[in-house]
This record gives sequence, C-alpha cells and structure tokens, in this order.
Amino acid sequence: MQIFETIESLQSALSGAAANTLGFVPTMGNLHAGHLSLVSRARGEHDLVVVSIFVNPLQFGANEDLDSYPRTLDADTAALIAAGCDFLFLPSAAELYGDDMQASTRVQVPELGTHYCGASRPGHFDGVTTVVTKLFNIVQPDAAYFGLKDYQQFSIIRKMVDDLALPVSVHGIETAREASGLALSSRNGYLSAEQKAVAPLLYQTIKGIGDALAAGDQDFKRLIQAGKQQLQDAGLQPDYLAIANSATLRPATREDSHLVILAAAFLGSTRLIDNLRVSV
Ligand code: AMP
Repeated sequence: MQIFETIESLQSALSGAAANTLGFVPTMGNLHAGHLSLVSRARGEHDLVVVSIFVNPLQFGANEDLDSYPRTLDADTAALIAAGCDFLFLPSAAELYGDDMQASTRVQVPELGTHYCGASRPGHFDGVTTVVTKLFNIVQPDAAYFGLKDYQQFSIIRKMVDDLALPVSVHGIETAREASGLALSSRNGYLSAEQKAVAPLLYQTIKGIGDALAAGDQDFKRLIQAGKQQLQDAGLQPDYLAIANSATLRPATREDSHLVILAAAFLGSTRLIDNLRVSV
C-alpha cells in the first residue's frame, strides 16, 4: 500500500496506475470492521482501491469532538494493508482547504440536510458534502462506498451525486454490528463499561419499532413516544427518534411502504446514531 499526503502526489500515482476501475472509500480513520467491510466491497469490485483518512474539521461544530476524535493511524494502516487497499490518502486540512477554510466554497444539499442530524448539528452535512465532492474530484473514482449506518449522510450524498451529475456510482453498505446489536462506531470508544452495557438499547428500540411496523402497526406517534420512553428509562437521552419515508426522509405517512426508523441519543456526552429500514 502506498501512502500520499498531497493531492499532487496522489494524482500522479493515479495517472500512472494501469487500472480499469477505481473504488473509493472515504473515512475519518479509527477503522473498525464496518469501515473494512466497505473496503472489502471495493476490493472485490475494482482493480484499484483508494481509501482516504481525513478528520474533516468542516463537519464538526464548535463544541463537538474534533480535537478528541480518535486518531489511530498505525493500526489503521495495518488494517488497510490486510484489507487489500492500494492507495491511502492522508491529506492535512491545509492541503484540502488552503489556509482559510471558512472562506472555502461549500456544497449544500438543502432539504435533506436540515432535519435529524442536520438540525442537531448545524452545518455538519455541508461539511460532509463539501469534502466528499472535493475528494471525488481529486480521486475521480468509478464507485464510492458509504455505510448505511449514517443513513441520512448516505441519502444526502446520493442526492448530491444525482443532482450534480457527478460521474461516480454510490454504494450503501449494510451496518456492521456487535453481537449485542450495537452499531460499530468510532465513538463507541468514548463509552465506559457501564455505558457500553446500555448502548445496545438504541438498536433494540428501533428494532422493536421496526417489528411493530412490519406487523402492521401504523400508530407512528405512539410507537415513537414509547420508544423515547424506553430510551430514557435506560439512561439514554433521545436527540431524535423518527419514522420517515426512506427515500425522501420526510415524516412517514400511512401510504408509505418503504420506511426508515432514524435515531440519535446521548449516553453521557457521547452521541450515538442508528437506523433501520423496513418495508411494510
Ligand atoms: P467515518 O469514519 O465515521 O466517517 O465513516 C466512514 C464510512 O464508514 C462512512 O461511510 C460510514 O457510514 C461507514 N461506517 C461507519 N460505521 C459503520 C458500520 N458500523 N457499518 C458500516 N459502515 C460504517
């Protein structure tokens, strides 16, 4: 695996690589089995696999965990070599944004980005779409792989690619979970042993709602209220819990058949998200 820190060095290696197809996996590092499942999908489908690790300051709010976000480059490098990654791109913020990040151009998907995580984290998705666009332009992949664990992010990127006719196919990969059901996340590392025992309840709650929906329950309001209560009783503070149309992310109606249950909750100061798609 070759490692590049500048756009120029990566692009010169890309133009010299005799590859028919290129698969790309953007990440923020601290890689776990969820990230690596994206890499292995890319590996199975392309001649050349490029992974980026960049903790993107543009997508963190002022009071969020940019400084404490886990950075584990040695372990990540070893895991990517084992997963068959060809090129690892490790840009600095200055390499991507120059010396005045705030003055840099933004890419914004208006409606999809304003609810749920977008409401709780203003500007977050603009940071994501901006960096993903820039990385696409640098790497010029045929396909890019994203986790369905971040379902709103995946929906926004898919729409951005469609709206802007970006020449890349976007793949959503199923969420990797612990045996308890807890979705793998770099932020799980913030949890204490006691919190780790409680955290799986987030998935159990949305799974319970999903089972009820699949069984024909259409009382969305009651399901959400009961779900929020269940989270609170266990010590999880719900940020949002919603049943939405899985294509538009608008609040679900009784006519919708493809639904997604979206959830975010705080456990202490750690914010966990999860979702479950259900067809009824
Ligand atoms: P991150 O490093 O958190 O920005 O994640 C990089 C990519 O990995 C994103 O597309 C995430 O959606 C995806 N990802 C994160 N956690 C998981 C998981 N548990 N299962 C599958 N994909 C994931």
